[in-house]
Amino acid sequence: MNHKIKPRSWYFLFTALAGSLIFYLVILFPFRETLAVNPEVMVEIGILSGVNRVSISGEKELKIISKDKTVNFSAGDYSVTAVEDGLKIGKKNFTSRVEIISSGYLKVNRRGYRGSLILIKKSKNRFTVVNRVELEQYLYGVMKPEISPNWPEETLKAQAVISRTYALKNLTKHTGDGFNLCNRVHCQVYAGLSGESVLTNQAVDATRGEILIYDGEPINAFFHSTCGGCTDKPSNVWGSANDPEYLEGVKCKFCEDDPRYYWEHSLSKRRIAAVLKKKGYPIDEVEKLEIDKRGNGGRVSKLRIIDGKGKKHIILANQFRIFFNPENQRSTFVEMKIYSDAYQFKGKGWGHGVGLCQWGARGMGLKGHDYKEILKYYYPGTKLKRVD
Ligand SMILES: [Zn+2]
Ligand SMILES: [Zn+2]
Repeated sequence: MNHKIKPRSWYFLFTALAGSLIFYLVILFPFRETLAVNPEVMVEIGILSGVNRVSISGEKELKIISKDKTVNFSAGDYSVTAVEDGLKIGKKNFTSRVEIISSGYLKVNRRGYRGSLILIKKSKNRFTVVNRVELEQYLYGVMKPEISPNWPEETLKAQAVISRTYALKNLTKHTGDGFNLCNRVHCQVYAGLSGESVLTNQAVDATRGEILIYDGEPINAFFHSTCGGCTDKPSNVWGSANDPEYLEGVKCKFCEDDPRYYWEHSLSKRRIAAVLKKKGYPIDEVEKLEIDKRGNGGRVSKLRIIDGKGKKHIILANQFRIFFNPENQRSTFVEMKIYSDAYQFKGKGWGHGVGLCQWGARGMGLKGHDYKEILKYYYPGTKLKRVD
């Protein structure tokens, strides 16, 4: 047998190689940038869990994709229910997981969303509704629930960066539920199209892809409404084991414009005993409530309760605040006084006090600081990084 390549084959090989090279240089090379760009980061947000019926509507044609088929529905309203072996949309039956896409906005129970919807049947007659959306478009829908669009542009940009950082840091928070993040305070309040405004969307666009990192990792971008004079570290507030450098806490003289900066609240000894008992503390009677440990700048970290039998109980002040309704017991930056059988709390600020102070970020924005300075101030030692 002759294993030699004949001259004619050489000719073909050469032509093929030259052809490929020309194709790459002329056709693909101008687009190499586009080809190298990663696809958009998509996030999946749980918007309804454990429901047995929802209404889905589309302003344009809907494409319903399931494992075994794709069906087009004309624009309109459709009811979704869980049935024996899957989901029923309008009059058609589908498998237990479907994705609904459309070139227009989709609505779930009349609330509009960008991106697509994924319906996942979870039990005999319950299902979960997930909104699959680009990260940047998800951020559009979390801004207005968190911050007023009328606040300074640089403050809005700082909020956009921390909301993005928070989202990327917490993508596995709801893995077990079948999505990345929920739409409630537990993750970040996400309201879809109704959470958007022109000004907050602009702040998201202006900081596109930017997150805060420390040691090469996205930071834990905690934030709260008003610190009341200084921010605190996680160990003082939640009793956590370590405090990263960027959450050690800073002084803040920028948040005094908050009209709710000062607050007062009273709790009777009887109510304190009743609520703590309900929360599992073996307390029948409160003899004394005292400050056990202070955190940054005099914020209260721990409270000490002496019960009717003279026994001592220690409780984190932030936990105490949550037990007694954080709408009233607004912060841990408090002084206490006893009046007969009730304690009066005189406090400053609102929220847990860790990380960025939103009213402070507003104050810094009004004073002309840009969003990079605001972020650097509240999260010292961190760097801005663009992730595409
Ligand atoms: Zn959540
Ligand atoms: Zn502040």
